[in-house]
Amino acid sequence: MKELTDEDLKIYEWQLDIPGHGVEGQKKLKNCVALISRTGGLGGPLAFQLASAGVGKLILAHGGDLKHSDLNRQILMKHDDIGKPRCEIAYETLKRFNPNIEVEIINSNISEDNVEELIERSDIVFDCAPLFEERFLMNRECVKQKKPLVDCGMYSMEGQLINIIPGKTPCLNCIFPEKPPHWKRKFPVFGAVSTLLASLGAIEGLKIISGFGEPLMNKMLYINTQTLEFKKIPITKKTNCPTCGTI
Ligand SMILES: [Zn+2]
Repeated sequence: MKELTDEDLKIYEWQLDIPGHGVEGQKKLKNCVALISRTGGLGGPLAFQLASAGVGKLILAHGGDLKHSDLNRQILMKHDDIGKPRCEIAYETLKRFNPNIEVEIINSNISEDNVEELIERSDIVFDCAPLFEERFLMNRECVKQKKPLVDCGMYSMEGQLINIIPGKTPCLNCIFPEKPPHWKRKFPVFGAVSTLLASLGAIEGLKIISGFGEPLMNKMLYINTQTLEFKKIPITKKTNCPTCGTI
């Protein structure tokens, strides 16, 4: 296990006093490998928060080049970088901010071809993908490999957050047996809303990795920012769930 350096102790000084976290928790962050699907409006700020907290290695999976229409929310990106691969811009931003962490980039989205191998190499997975096909793949593989999955989703002014801890909580298929019919690839979004969900997902991940606080268990956090309503909705494991029913 990698130890904290003198520089680490200076950089993370202000978070070491978080109740239940401390030096031991910080060491767990340093030795953690986190996979983040996408570096967009949700995955980008989430990766930034994990980098700032000192999570030792981030694997970012996101295909495609930066477009004008990404800039209202994808805050790791810069206007001058339009046309460049988004994962490369995310890499530069994160490494400039925290050169002490390792960042690996995969210039493609999570798919059947790479999901198993990427999750094998990770300790925790953050699902920030807009498409249910990708979310279901990560859910299936995390359940199979017994890796924690923090699932963040948003649409318009609403958001939802679920922690999937295989063997302890329901999985995504228990809640969504199939892709919701209204789900669209192009969705209305303000960066402020996706960033809010990203911060909440990062907080849950930090709690799970370090072992402090009370991660959200067997509940879905639902947020409606039109009215600033936050509520926790109980969710239950389905015994006949095709994904987690046998574990
Ligand atoms: Zn399930």
